[in-house]
Amino acid sequence: MESINKRAIVIGGSLAGLFSGTLLRSIGWQVDIYERSTHDLDSRGGGIVLQADVVTALKKAGIATENLGVDALERYYLQKNGQIEKMAMRQTLTSWNILYRSMRRHFSDAHYHQGKVLAQVQSKGTKVTATFVDGSCETADLLIGADGPTSTVRQQLLPTYEPQYAGYVAYRGLVDEADLEPEAAKIFTERFVFYDFPNSHILAYVIPGENESLVPGKRRFNWVWYVNYDEKTELAHILTDKNGKPRKYSVPPEMMSPTVEEAMRHYADGVLAVPFKKLIAATKAPFVQSILDLTVPQMAFDNVALIGDAAFIPRPHTAAGTSKAAANAISLVQALVHHNHDVTNALQAWESNQLSYGMKLWNHGRSVGDRSQFSYGKNRIAG
Ligand SMILES: Cc1cc2nc3c(=O)[nH]c(=O)nc-3n(C[C@H](O)[C@H](O)[C@H](O)COP(=O)(O)OP(=O)(O)OC[C@H]3O[C@@H](n4cnc5c(N)ncnc54)[C@H](O)[C@@H]3O)c2cc1C
Repeated sequence: MESINKRAIVIGGSLAGLFSGTLLRSIGWQVDIYERSTHDLDSRGGGIVLQADVVTALKKAGIATENLGVDALERYYLQKNGQIEKMAMRQTLTSWNILYRSMRRHFSDAHYHQGKVLAQVQSKGTKVTATFVDGSCETADLLIGADGPTSTVRQQLLPTYEPQYAGYVAYRGLVDEADLEPEAAKIFTERFVFYDFPNSHILAYVIPGENESLVPGKRRFNWVWYVNYDEKTELAHILTDKNGKPRKYSVPPEMMSPTVEEAMRHYADGVLAVPFKKLIAATKAPFVQSILDLTVPQMAFDNVALIGDAAFIPRPHTAAGTSKAAANAISLVQALVHHNHDVTNALQAWESNQLSYGMKLWNHGRSVGDRSQFSYGKNRIAG
């Protein structure tokens, strides 16, 4: 694709940033991505339901989409009495790592800048300038705020909009196929498995291995367990890491405090169905994320766009956070092409559908989450 002499700055080098970066490049823009982390992000892990918009975004960016995931053929709903309700439903499950690495490999190192923390954004006429904490500045025709839940771009443009704790956290974990005993492993293989109980649910499915392997025996089980904690009296304890450092929204693998991890394992033994107890027992490094709610009234600001989790955070029950980021980026480049790369006109045309899509997903996620977690009040049942 021939360059069209337009430049974009993308703040945030995670999935939303990489969807934007790779897609903008595919329509001839020069793009630089600025990521605050000083190292590659691929330790973040976790499973992702592979939705159509993700595949479309990758294809449009010229990235191979074969071998991205593992197919689950049906859903299993485990029952307290040991029985299983079955439902045919095919889904492809992938991992955060595969999506990140697929796009990262496709985006040149020379234009992916690590250790760059955005401090401020300033629009002037048709140009926008990003100033970084290290004092350096970059100017472009378009700036994309793909900087996630704590977005600096959003804090500056919509200072009163911040993520709100939804009332529960997700404990999460990954287990190598070889590390789970065969009887439990059989239940989780080629299936999306749920166990619902009052004010909580847990789910699991197989995702590619750490090294992107799709070979049976070399893949991983991914589980997510939603548990209610009171924001005022309990949450801070859950989010304090093993070094006593309070974390804002999540504690990564190998950093959970032993007390919190121990209590989680004990609680699992008290309330979960047997296959899930075994899955958690086999998990070496669980991690925890608080579930957040965020909506915004605006995503386009002259020549600045907010996308992905920087704009809307739908609850994970929608399995659509990543595909929303992909959809935001796909429609942004379509609008740019349609408006002959006139940024202001393109962003204006782009915004309204994205706002209603974000709001629709957020409403759906909230209703599913509230029904699962709060049907019997706000507490969790005793273990
Ligand atoms: C429990 C759970 C399960 C999920 N499951 C799914 C699923 O099955 N399917 C799905 O589609 N989605 C799922 N999601 C959501 C999904 O992970 C995100 O929606 C998606 O990855 C998009 O994230 P993002 O790139 O917008 O933000 P992030 O991944 O948060 O990235 C933001 C990036 O910006 C960087 N940054 C922040 N501030 C600055 C700054 N000032 N300067 C420079 N860089 C900065 C950060 O370091 C980070 O790398 C799940 C989420 C949770 C919590």
